[in-house]
Amino acid sequence: MKSIKIFAPATVANLSCGFDVLGCCLDNVGDEMVISITADPGVKITKIEGANLPMETHKNVAGVAVEAFLKAYGENIGVAIEIYKKIKAGSGIGSSAASSSGAVWAVNHLLGNPFTTHELVKFAMEGEKLASGNAHADNVAPALLGGFTLVRSYDPLDIIKLHSPEDLVMTVIHPQIEVKTSDSRSVIKHKVTLKKAIHQWGNLGGFVAGLFTEDYDLIGRSLDDVIIEPLRSILIPEFNNVKNAAIAKGALGSGISGSGPSIFALSKGMKVANDVATAIQDIYEKTGIDFDIHISKINSKGIKIIEETEYRK
Ligand code: ADP
Repeated sequence: MKSIKIFAPATVANLSCGFDVLGCCLDNVGDEMVISITADPGVKITKIEGANLPMETHKNVAGVAVEAFLKAYGENIGVAIEIYKKIKAGSGIGSSAASSSGAVWAVNHLLGNPFTTHELVKFAMEGEKLASGNAHADNVAPALLGGFTLVRSYDPLDIIKLHSPEDLVMTVIHPQIEVKTSDSRSVIKHKVTLKKAIHQWGNLGGFVAGLFTEDYDLIGRSLDDVIIEPLRSILIPEFNNVKNAAIAKGALGSGISGSGPSIFALSKGMKVANDVATAIQDIYEKTGIDFDIHISKINSKGIKIIEETEYRK
């Protein structure tokens, strides 16, 4: 019997210009999970603390992701999954992705890494399919690989880990209203004008170039979304005020985190990120809506081991 306790990080997907393709991994925001290889075959969710989520394997993203992993692995071994939730479901900072990525990463580790970390992405995506009806990779890729990631292509799946400049810091506000990924997907239009597409892919290229050249101004100029944000931001109270306040305090850019309702601001340096947090806190305190604020450096590692044990039954 083997068991591992891990930190499963929160992630910010889309990053304004990269809907469904860009994401980044946070450092001090995330869940904990304990994954064990057991004598009885089959995948079981044995404990969930901190959230009211399904215990049935086929309804929990962690269970579904591990089942996809074991199908490819070809052996029906026993896996027990404990989830200690700190990221609220439906927050837009990759709650489901943390569970599905954490679970497959841990099982892979306990089995001696039969798959590469890149190969784990497609198993974790099965969890995302359960959570939102769409097997997107923009949260699970950064959770697994760390740093900033780009989904260059979904078919065939081609995930690129990008460079992560040292001074970037995320400020994220999570208003405690639930916006389900499936709901916020329904407001999106499926046709885009060529003018908007040109604007968007110019920014996506600029953002990636900005990361690799550590050009913080270019990163900031590129954090612009003319396709999704205008439609989705109406679901988020005070979105424009928060975004404007963040930029006024010196953030490089700000936008919707994943499918919302969380709003992110990316800054150069901890001082600006803290100033941004204070400004957006002031705005939200007046709304009467409960909220959390997270300030985090970019986590270039992804999932981290907290403790590992091996014992005989
Ligand atoms: P987020 O963007 O924060 O991941 P989603 O709306 O995409 O939020 O996913 C949350 C949905 O996934 C909820 O309906 C939740 O019940 C379901 N779910 C199933 N298992 C889990 C899990 N282990 N962690 C988080 N959400 C889960």
